[in-house]
This record gives sequence, C-alpha cells and structure tokens, in this order.
Amino acid sequence: MQDCVFCKIVENMIPSNKVYEDDTVVAFRDINPMAPVHIIVIPKEHITGANDICPANSGVVAHIFEVIPKIAAAEGVAESGYRIISNCGKDAGQTVSHLHFHILGGTQLPLSLA
Ligand code: 5GP
Ligand code: ZN
Repeated sequence: MQDCVFCKIVENMIPSNKVYEDDTVVAFRDINPMAPVHIIVIPKEHITGANDICPANSGVVAHIFEVIPKIAAAEGVAESGYRIISNCGKDAGQTVSHLHFHILGGTQLPLSLA
C-alpha cells in the first residue's frame, strides 16, 4: 500500500524503533507513547483492520499473539501486566488503516476504556 505509514515502516522507507521482526511480523515503539511501554505490533502484509481478518490471513494474527508475550517479556512487563488494544474504525479512533495491536504497560493503566 503506497500511502500506508506502517507499510513504509515495514519497507524501512521511514525510520522506526523496531523491537522485533521476523518473516511476517514487525513491532516498533509508538511515536507518541501513552505508557512507559507502548509497542505497535503489525503484520508485514497490509490488512486494513480487524474487519479484514479472514481465513486467508488469520495465521499471521495468531502468530502476532504468539509474539506479543515474547515482546512483553523482553520489555519487562510480562509479570507486571500489559494491555493489548486493536482499534477498528472511526468510533474506535483508528488512525492508521493497517491492522495493528498496541502493547501498553509499565504502569498501572486506567481502567476506563482505552
Ligand atoms: P491507532 O490510533 O490507529 O490505533 O494507532 C496508531 C498508532 O500509531 C498511534 O498510537 C500513533 O502514535 C502511532 N503512529 C502513527 N504514525 C507513526 C509512525 O510514523 N511511527 C510510529 N512509530 N508510530 C506511529
Ligand atoms: Zn499498510
């Protein structure tokens, strides 16, 4: 996707602070962190959002959920706890139309809707 900022991060066309990468997944620090640990985890493949998860691409989503605990452990929040968020669409406040999962932790997170 030419105009997708996260596809550009995958292609190293714009810089990012990557904390994890494999054949199908990239994770990097959020440019505007909302918590001491704020990592964005994405599939390398452009999937617009949760509405576009289907049998043909759900394998990478499952893989992301295997990778997330490893990242959490590396960031030191596996035991203290963390929140996983995926915003889908306008009302959720999705600003980047490339499926992504926020990992938030490193502090007591507010219990209100994130
Ligand atoms: P959303 O609001 O779509 O759920 O989350 C998008 C997230 O991506 C936001 O937290 C925003 O700060 C982050 N973000 C947007 N553009 C960039 C960028 O160019 N680099 C990085 N590292 N994060 C970005
Ligand atoms: Zn994309």
